[in-house]
Amino acid sequence: MNTSGRGRSLLPSAAFRKCGIVQKYKALAEATPGVYFVGRLATYKYYNMDQVVAQALTIYTQLSRRERLETVAGGQ
Ligand SMILES: Cc1cc2nc3c(=O)[nH]c(=O)nc-3n(C[C@H](O)[C@H](O)[C@H](O)COP(=O)(O)OP(=O)(O)OC[C@H]3O[C@@H](n4cnc5c(N)ncnc54)[C@H](O)[C@@H]3O)c2cc1C
Repeated sequence: MNTSGRGRSLLPSAAFRKCGIVQKYKALAEATPGVYFVGRLATYKYYNMDQVVAQALTIYTQLSRRERLETVAGGQ
């Protein structure tokens, strides 16, 4: 992580992204049902707040749509 000011971690560094840990977490998350990562910390990418909120709303919409479809299919 990059640090700034009083030594607080603020942003993931390019070196951290390139070391392979991020890809391992991503693969594990994709193989784990019911786990979704959005946002800066979860994806190791820089975002402003509007982008993070948009990601959260998008995944919520996708999940609620899927749940509705499963409910309809299960009720038939
Ligand atoms: C100095 C600075 C200035 C900024 N200024 C702006 C600005 O002016 N405008 C703007 O739009 N954006 C700004 N941003 C960006 C904005 O802060 C981020 O886009 C936003 O906070 C990202 O939200 P997030 O939920 O993805 O991640 P975060 O806000 O980082 O939230 C992650 C959360 O997960 C928690 N967490 C970590 N590990 C664990 C764990 N193992 N278990 C449970 N919880 C855990 C953390 O404590 C934290 O609360 C700024 C960021 C910084 C650092």
